[in-house]
Amino acid sequence: MEHNFEKLKEHILPLSNATDFHHAKNEWKLVGVEINEDWDNCPCGQSIKELCYIENQLNNQKTYVGNVCINKFIGIDTGNLFAGLKRIAKDDLANANEDLIIHAYKLGYIFEKEYSFLMDTKNKRKLSEKQLAWKQKINNRIINQTVVRAK
Ligand SMILES: [Zn+2]
Repeated sequence: MEHNFEKLKEHILPLSNATDFHHAKNEWKLVGVEINEDWDNCPCGQSIKELCYIENQLNNQKTYVGNVCINKFIGIDTGNLFAGLKRIAKDDLANANEDLIIHAYKLGYIFEKEYSFLMDTKNKRKLSEKQLAWKQKINNRIINQTVVRAK
């Protein structure tokens, strides 16, 4: 199935203050991300497992769209965020990539000290035991807030 822009627009516009999409899309901000094990649907009709929760900054309406539509139509760049999430979900000692670190900080999943630590060590292969334990702890917090396992 295609990403149906008309369907996405029909979903987003009634939740926005502006009446044309080009202005309406700027009212929205990314407030959360999630990886689901079960399929869900983006308002465009596409089946998705990567959910981007967005909130309207003017009227506080909330909804979610898929990882493609958020980039393509809403204009919020998530970069390699989901690839990074999948990597740490698979291996909680893995290094988070830069997009994941930035978004995790912006979304309030990690503290400033943790942000600096992850950034400093994002390309490091060798970490001390203490650093590894810290990384694992941070990664698990990010995973707990973003990965929804099937029950
Ligand atoms: Zn979509």
